[in-house]
Amino acid sequence: MRSAWVDRDAETIVAREAKRGVEHDLALRIYTTRLLGGDRNLVLHGGGNTSLKTHARDAFGDKVEVLRIKATGADMAAIEADGMPAVRLDALRRLRVLEHIGDEELVAIERANLIDPAGPSPSVEVMLHALLPHKFVDHTHARAVLSLIDQPDGEDKCAEAFGGRLAFVPYLMPGFGLAKKAIDVFERLKPGDGLILSKHGIVTFGDSAREAYERMIEMVTLAEGFVARNRKSVAQPTTPNNIAGEAHVAPIVRGACSQKDGAVEGAWRRLLLDFRRNEAVLRFVNSANLSRLSQAGVVTPDHTIRTKNWPLVLPAPENAALDEFARAARERVKEFAVHYHRYFERNNKRVGGGKRELDPLPRVVLVPGLGLFGLGPTKRDAIIAADIAEEWMAVVSNAELTGKFESISEADMFDVEYWPLEQAKLGARTEPPLAGQIVAVTGAGGAIGAATAKMFAAAGAAVALLDMDFAAAEQQAEAIGKAALPVACDVTDAESVGTAFDKVVRDFGGVDIVVSNAGAAWQGRIGEVGEDILRKSFELNFYGHQRVAQAAVRIMLAQGTGGCLLFNVSKQAVNPGPDFGPYGIPKAAALALMRQYALDYGKDGIRANAVNADRIRSGLLTEDFIRERAKARGVSEKDYMCGNLLGREVTADDVARAFLHQALEYKTTASITTVDGGNIAAALR
Ligand SMILES: [Zn+2]
Repeated sequence: MRSAWVDRDAETIVAREAKRGVEHDLALRIYTTRLLGGDRNLVLHGGGNTSLKTHARDAFGDKVEVLRIKATGADMAAIEADGMPAVRLDALRRLRVLEHIGDEELVAIERANLIDPAGPSPSVEVMLHALLPHKFVDHTHARAVLSLIDQPDGEDKCAEAFGGRLAFVPYLMPGFGLAKKAIDVFERLKPGDGLILSKHGIVTFGDSAREAYERMIEMVTLAEGFVARNRKSVAQPTTPNNIAGEAHVAPIVRGACSQKDGAVEGAWRRLLLDFRRNEAVLRFVNSANLSRLSQAGVVTPDHTIRTKNWPLVLPAPENAALDEFARAARERVKEFAVHYHRYFERNNKRVGGGKRELDPLPRVVLVPGLGLFGLGPTKRDAIIAADIAEEWMAVVSNAELTGKFESISEADMFDVEYWPLEQAKLGARTEPPLAGQIVAVTGAGGAIGAATAKMFAAAGAAVALLDMDFAAAEQQAEAIGKAALPVACDVTDAESVGTAFDKVVRDFGGVDIVVSNAGAAWQGRIGEVGEDILRKSFELNFYGHQRVAQAAVRIMLAQGTGGCLLFNVSKQAVNPGPDFGPYGIPKAAALALMRQYALDYGKDGIRANAVNADRIRSGLLTEDFIRERAKARGVSEKDYMCGNLLGREVTADDVARAFLHQALEYKTTASITTVDGGNIAAALR
């Protein structure tokens, strides 16, 4: 690989940071940290770290020597000065004399010595950076280096590849012990360029940002050359035939990897999926060695918190035998959970107990013939798991091509997975009520649909916004943020509905809650109205709901974890308005449709409910229309909008809240919630 250092870029960053009061060395530290972080061959998702030894003024204005080090879990590619807290160096150096120090105590001492007491906590590898004498220290988990050191004879391979320029530090879990061991090795061997941390990564150092960075690039290039020179050729694996597509496989995988919520009967704890298929992934999942390699372990310790130590391997999903695949998938997930639980018990006992078991579900699922799925409680977590799985495959494949892949021991993996400092990288997580759930809302470009999508997203769900006006769906999705998915969908067209739900499944992995909301109003006196008008209204206001519900139920049945269908049926469904038959009659049919779904799919755990809303400002009830109706009735617009028992205007948010409540009412089905401020003529029995 080549150095990405560009003088002009470095100068630009130095000039820009200077305006913010950031010194020259720190600006260059930021620059090369971003260069390292931006290359997937070097670090991924919060892995790796860099530091700078410099000076800072403390609260008294005294100049003190400090270590500026990447904050724990921070992303190197997007690092800023405040993502590199300053810690008093002399306090850290003095710790070296200690034989041992507890994690919490170490973190407390680090925090007590921060120049900015409110700053983020330093990287878990802070002591390694503090004890090395060099001004700039860079640490990555470079793919090519891992390919050499994740082998039984990694030390010999390093000696050959790096010609003694890097000293080899045997494996120890990250933290205080590793830092002490590394500095002992460094002082004994005095390597000129850096260190290899066995089964973990590489450290380079230098007097300038550029020197440390370019040494990293040089060493990684040597490792790449070694791998290229020593590659054995291997037979191409055979690809199984007649494999089902990911839109059919994902809901089965997702359902199998869900757990019943112990606290609420009928609720499920689910994960989101991220699918990957490319040549390298296919070669790996189709390989004859898959079962051995899948059990071989992580390529660098901190991956364990994202992917667990092993992926789940499923059989190839043949098109004609998806039921069999589904049975096998559920069986293998069960076995995976039992295996994980035993691993936990065994190792928790070894460390004297006291650890709290994490959920036993896989985070990476390998499907021969198809590809891989990353899984996580959010879409972002699923993407991270999939990225790391691809990286894992690349390292394992390279190691096998030049020798034999070997990870750290099970006990070592457990110690990292259950190390509180690693778990802290995931951040404090509060679980919103719909975390892990996937919601599709139709008519999401309109007022009620958009308010509903927004409210479900705020409750933690991943939301897909379906609308025939894609630009409107996109605009509303953007307002919600990254986790929202806009999808073009015309509910009057079965093919469009099918394609839209396939898209939701491909992006998120399945669907759990559908808010069938798209609709439009037609008017006409029923005895005189043209049949074409009535049919048009039925296409949208009845068949539209049926198509959406049908597509959703297919996915929900494949998941096998129940589901929830929510319909927007107007108050017209129970309380017809004069000349509003073309709208009210299909809505009455939609109400019957909801009850039929509740009846036919209750045994599958699929609930169906409806909201009966009235008089909401929206595309149906425009400002002009309100003005007209108010004038016709001889009342003010406000009185017209508040003409109900409570005298309150009903808003799109009120309807959204009703849908959200229905989604959370796990024992309620075939029910209608009225959201109209009180209208006794529309009251249900
Ligand atoms: Zn590391």
